[in-house]
Amino acid sequence: MPLLENKTALVTGGTSGLGRSIAVGFAKHGASVVVLGTKKEKAESVIQELNTLKCFASQKFSYVLADVSQKQQIDKALADILVDFGNVNILVNCAGITRDSLFLKMSEENWDNVITTNLKSVYNVTHYVIRAMIKSRNGKIINIASVIGQIGNPGQVNYSASKAGMIGFTKSLAKEVGSRGICVNCIAPGFFETPMTDALSDEQKKSIYDKIPMRRLGNPEELANAAIFLASDMSNYITGETLTVDGGMIS
Ligand code: NAD
Repeated sequence: MPLLENKTALVTGGTSGLGRSIAVGFAKHGASVVVLGTKKEKAESVIQELNTLKCFASQKFSYVLADVSQKQQIDKALADILVDFGNVNILVNCAGITRDSLFLKMSEENWDNVITTNLKSVYNVTHYVIRAMIKSRNGKIINIASVIGQIGNPGQVNYSASKAGMIGFTKSLAKEVGSRGICVNCIAPGFFETPMTDALSDEQKKSIYDKIPMRRLGNPEELANAAIFLASDMSNYITGETLTVDGGMIS
């Protein structure tokens, strides 16, 4: 049974990895989907895939290119989307980057890039989209954080701070807008098979497997299923939560 019929979703970072998988999962469940990314070729390829997955004639798919860390770009891009799609009912803040190094060697540039792309972006996009959600007294906001925001990791002070920031953002906003019918939640993925983790060496992957009770990386579809649940009416009484999806890694 499609869980997202008549819903419109905006997925930042929806052109690759987990975001793409979430966009695909939402389309399979009947939602119209806008993906936001930075690369035209990748965005076009996602839209091509989504068009093969339509369950309802009314479903629409589109992409928008913008840098999530730049408020002005986001305001302009989202204004165009709202004209085409009407209200966004589901927002997934998934765009993110890593710029790893031990803290003593961490440049100010790598600190700023990660904080603005992973955390300031959540302000930029949510601030624009939430007005209409408040007006319609309906909305689901899902922030893709990370277990690293919960447990920390050497070499990822910037990334960990950005993801812990997303968790705090989520808890506070959930308290502000719960009375308006808006649910705000986080998903904290463990390690998943995406271009982000492709960059890890075999040695790093082996040491990660040893820490995961299920002894494997997650499949992006398994993460998308958690996002579908939080986007759907099945989770209407869940807000301010962080749902960890990590094969048992930090439990
Ligand atoms: P990915 O590199 O495959 O995808 C990242 C996406 O973010 C891409 O679509 C990219 O275009 C977009 N993006 C990056 N910078 C952007 C910017 N400035 N403006 C607009 N879009 C931008 O990575 P992924 O593994 O799919 O990760 C997606 C999210 O999940 C990230 O926030 C990441 O931190 C988080 N996460 C991933 C894992 C994992 O194991 N892959 C684990 C925990 C958390």
